[in-house]
Amino acid sequence: MDARYVLVGNSAASLAAVDWIRKYDREGRILLVNREPGPAYSRVALPYYVAGEMTLEDLWIRTPRDYEEKGVELLDAAPVVAVDPEARKISLADGRSVGYEKLLLATGSECVAPPVSGLSEVPVHYLWTLEDARGLKAAAEKARTGLVIGGGFIGMLAAEALRKLRIRLTIVEMAPQLLPQLLDEEGGKRFGEAVRDEGVTLELGTTVRTLARKPSGEIEAELGNGRKVVVDLVVVAAGVRPNLSCVTPEVCEIGRGILVDEFLRTSRPGIFAAGDVAEVVDFLGGGQRVLHAIWPSAVEQGRIAGANMTGRQIAYDGSLGMNVVELFHVTLAQIGRFREGPGDDVKLLGGGRGDAYRKIVVDRDGVVVGAMYLGDAHGVAEMGVVHSWIRRRARWKDFERHHQPRFTYALTVRDVPEVRT
Ligand SMILES: Cc1cc2nc3c(=O)[nH]c(=O)nc-3n(C[C@H](O)[C@H](O)[C@H](O)COP(=O)(O)OP(=O)(O)OC[C@H]3O[C@@H](n4cnc5c(N)ncnc54)[C@H](O)[C@@H]3O)c2cc1C
Repeated sequence: MDARYVLVGNSAASLAAVDWIRKYDREGRILLVNREPGPAYSRVALPYYVAGEMTLEDLWIRTPRDYEEKGVELLDAAPVVAVDPEARKISLADGRSVGYEKLLLATGSECVAPPVSGLSEVPVHYLWTLEDARGLKAAAEKARTGLVIGGGFIGMLAAEALRKLRIRLTIVEMAPQLLPQLLDEEGGKRFGEAVRDEGVTLELGTTVRTLARKPSGEIEAELGNGRKVVVDLVVVAAGVRPNLSCVTPEVCEIGRGILVDEFLRTSRPGIFAAGDVAEVVDFLGGGQRVLHAIWPSAVEQGRIAGANMTGRQIAYDGSLGMNVVELFHVTLAQIGRFREGPGDDVKLLGGGRGDAYRKIVVDRDGVVVGAMYLGDAHGVAEMGVVHSWIRRRARWKDFERHHQPRFTYALTVRDVPEVRT
């Protein structure tokens, strides 16, 4: 079963790696090893499946034929439990082993279980895998009330799906605002209002302390602020971390995720890592490494890792955090450093429809480093332009001169006093 290229994972990063391996090597044997059963599906679409807006069939992003056409063998329902970098072999849970010349670790993220007393004694749901989504969907069909622990990105996606199913919801978020990683304070405030307007109860700046099952079968949550919530269904969305299920520090260097260099190589010859599991160079510089659990970064990294596994030397210029999503009828977009730091300057783009909130962050050298948008879907297209300018390390003065007038409703630009912290 040995192969020239062994890829662990069957999602954004691995699939992109396959495409770019085949760009440069049409013959080499590729084996994709995945712990989940079946072909690849869209993780991003899972909330719409839970909400009943997509069917199971809509989720597949590869068919068995697609693998065949790329000359890829898929070994599914086959968890990898260990990597032996000396022998260049991986071990599977069923005892088999597979030899490789080049190995890609693209095992993605896993959900974090928060420190809540009683968490393991009551039925709770997560939303990361198709199996999670199936379980959540089945439970949601019988539930009238729900609690979402975590008001971050996944928590809000889960909450929106449950709300579409008319479940009465409480969201508990330890930060003083929703989506603390996607929105600044003002954005968080506006978004919170929109979510409350949809009839959702928000408990911000507090945590769930205990969970316990009542004789009725309902679950009672006691919050840090002393309040109690009794619900039929609990979703845990308290963050994700790199899935290091088959890697140890003996295999390769690990920080928060698997550490890779600009060529997506780990510290072990022949082993690459890409996607959520990889701790990569930050596009915004400063020698920082980042973990960005986002689909576009996983694809980009997968492509570059795939090419480099065939012997190319393509450098990755770093991951740029980015997200565009519509939640509770509000369109949100965020790119790069949207929370200003010391020395940064903030440009608020005024005008526009309704009360859209649009902000661009410029660093002390005048370079555009981040942006945030919150409003209706109409204005979000501009974020694509901002994104390309950040990637090109454009200066605000050029941005303003060339692009600002073309923005359909960027009528005024207002400087905000420099933020000092
Ligand atoms: C509900 C939801 C919505 C999202 N929405 C967005 C969005 O709107 N925009 C966005 O940019 N990102 C979104 N994301 C995040 C995005 O899906 C991830 O960043 C992306 O899937 C990462 O791709 P990956 O290939 O690195 O890892 P993953 O997609 O996590 O895939 C990892 C793969 O590795 C396999 N695997 C793991 N461990 C083992 C093992 N030991 N042995 C064998 N196989 C293993 C898994 O089965 C899986 O196939 C969303 C995620 C979720 C859950």
